Amino acid sequence: MSYETIIGLEIHSELNTNTKIFCNCSTKFGAKPNENTCPICMGLPGTLPVLNEEVVKKAVKAGTALNCKINKLNKMDRKNYFYPDLPKAYQISQYDLPICGEGFVDIETENGTKRVRLNRIHIEEDAGKLVHMEYEPYSLIDYNRVGVPLIEIVTEPDMRSPQEAVTFLRNLKAVLEYAGISDCRMEQGSLRCDANISLRKVGQETYNTRVEIKNINSFRELQKALEKEEKRQKELYDYGEGDKIVQETRRWDAGKGRTITMRGKEEAHDYRYFPEPDIIPIIVKDETIDAVKREMPELPVQRKERFIKEYGLTEKEVNILISDKHFAEYYEGLVVLGADTKSAANWMLSDMLRLLKEKEIEYDAIPVKKEDMTVLLSMVADKKLSVTSAKGVFEQMFETGEHPEKIVKDKGLVQISDAGAIEQIAVEILNANPKSVADYKGGKEQAIGYLVGQVMKQSKGKANPQMARDILQKKLSEM
Ligand code: ZN
Ligand code: MN
Repeated sequence: MSYETIIGLEIHSELNTNTKIFCNCSTKFGAKPNENTCPICMGLPGTLPVLNEEVVKKAVKAGTALNCKINKLNKMDRKNYFYPDLPKAYQISQYDLPICGEGFVDIETENGTKRVRLNRIHIEEDAGKLVHMEYEPYSLIDYNRVGVPLIEIVTEPDMRSPQEAVTFLRNLKAVLEYAGISDCRMEQGSLRCDANISLRKVGQETYNTRVEIKNINSFRELQKALEKEEKRQKELYDYGEGDKIVQETRRWDAGKGRTITMRGKEEAHDYRYFPEPDIIPIIVKDETIDAVKREMPELPVQRKERFIKEYGLTEKEVNILISDKHFAEYYEGLVVLGADTKSAANWMLSDMLRLLKEKEIEYDAIPVKKEDMTVLLSMVADKKLSVTSAKGVFEQMFETGEHPEKIVKDKGLVQISDAGAIEQIAVEILNANPKSVADYKGGKEQAIGYLVGQVMKQSKGKANPQMARDILQKKLSEM
């Protein structure tokens, strides 16, 4: 039986405001436990929340960057549930009138560009953090995160594979970062993703029961969790046990590599939503929308066009370069420092990308200084260093942060571009290989490849290969 996978995502992203959504407490990450709290975010009786204007602006900005309709009249609602990290026992969120309506994000897939529709974006407050003690019979609570502003972005079930979901999340993260709405540090929890996934027979129009996987913190885990859940559901359908797939919330256990039942999925009515009586409806003025549009930084779509036009790169190359704001900025930094646009792109898309992946380093933590990278690139361009040696030097720079000139000197790697020195070696090689010379003279032109190889070997890889080839050709024609 062949199945089609249906995926929709809900993404929580912390907004990078200085203060919380309803009080003046700092939102700074990494403060001492419970340092950033006050009676308002602790939800003490008698306190009143005051909506942070920046939150509204940033949400409008997110909506605009993500092609959403802005609901000029929207309101906050109470979502009631008890959890120890939520001291009020309700979360102030938005229910039937969110700040942003339908929007979309385009993604590149194997079958071309695909549009993933957004259902809505709403604003809400974050909850605190429970710290479970491994050897103690109790847990600790850090309330610093309570009241940090969030936007929740809800997609339509438009993705058809785990890969598409990952690509979507990458694109979405790029837009939020470019627009300056969130710092999107997944490892710090400022971008978190819940995934809804169901399977259906190819050709079936209705959706089957979906399962929600909570709190996924990285692209890799999203891919793995969805693949595992896809497999689990497929097997149940295959064995005629599709009724065992129930609407529920499952937790992704990264260590065990599987999803585990957390709880039955709540329906909206379980939360007893009602209009938040302490906050008046929000009216977004036209001036606010205009100002947001006017001040919008360059977004990935525009940067893509510009990179193609200005730097003479292919669309495929640019898609990867711009996929992350920090990666794109690193590239442009090299260009500003005078690097050749094409070779800078080549290095970043091959060796740089490979090492970042291998060592699981984020794009905003590239361990090679732009200045050093530019020096390496110009050593290659000036033929002081062969590409092969340069790759080794680059790896060492990546590893140790050392300056390329130091590494080249320590390893004695400077390329021989001295025609006289190469000529001397070429003569030796020609004398030592009469058969190859005869082959070449007899019309077997590929024999020169062997001779170039011998010159390279003799020079311990330091000869400039193009010069070696030219000199050999000249010598051979004189013979
Ligand atoms: Zn506070
Ligand atoms: Mn939420």
